[in-house]
Amino acid sequence: MTDREALLDALAWQVELGATEAIADAPIDRFAPAEPMPAVPASPPEPEPVTPEPDAPATPVAPATPVALARGTATLDALASAMGGWDGSPLKEGARSFVFSDGLAGARLMVIGEAPGAEEDRQGKPFVGRAGQLLDRMLAAIGLSRKAPAPGDAAYITNILPWRPPGNRTPSEDEVAAFLPFVERHITLAAPDLILTMGNTPTKALLATGTGIKRMRGRWVRHPATGLPLLPTFHPAYLLRQPADKRLAWFDLLAVRAALDGEEPSL
Ligand code: URA
Repeated sequence: MTDREALLDALAWQVELGATEAIADAPIDRFAPAEPMPAVPASPPEPEPVTPEPDAPATPVAPATPVALARGTATLDALASAMGGWDGSPLKEGARSFVFSDGLAGARLMVIGEAPGAEEDRQGKPFVGRAGQLLDRMLAAIGLSRKAPAPGDAAYITNILPWRPPGNRTPSEDEVAAFLPFVERHITLAAPDLILTMGNTPTKALLATGTGIKRMRGRWVRHPATGLPLLPTFHPAYLLRQPADKRLAWFDLLAVRAALDGEEPSL
């Protein structure tokens, strides 16, 4: 049987089954090799990885200076955090504690020393070693205490440097100059009536003078930055070594007492 006869035979068989019309317009060749399956649309192509542009060269931001940091503070807490956060002094690396202040903020008398020693570095408070104990006795002798709750009976205590210099050495002029803007701001924010500087370092720093404490002590001077009356006296650590000079320090303390009691400091 030829192909044609076979196809006619199949058609006859379909007619016999009841097929009366062709369904498709064109014959379907069921023996043709299967069409390749249409490609399943894949998930959308991955976007090309974007190679980030190399960073544009950053405009270098100069670290804030102590002057700018101090000027930007409006409270003692803000000043403490600006000062403690400033990384410009290598002293910070070698010290254990940031030593900001002790006593009553708002006290009428502000006492300013040099820098923390070993005990201050351990406790994080100024004047708590031997010199600090003598300072407490000196203050008590004129009716003042760092623990007193009333501004007229209290003292507020700080130092020029908040970090202990290695081996308790005297701070360098550069170290003092670096922290001076913070200290000047400290005085403004604490707003005492009187300042007592203890020893050479705070006296020379705040008065911008080269004259030593022996010549400066006992005479009221005006603090240039705030106009407040400032009295230089001996540092208690010096008085521990030179007890004979306690007599002179006593005169200075009496001058502080008199000023607190209303006597006008002779400036
Ligand atoms: N000497 C200072 O000048 N300050 C202190 O806090 C301790 C010792």
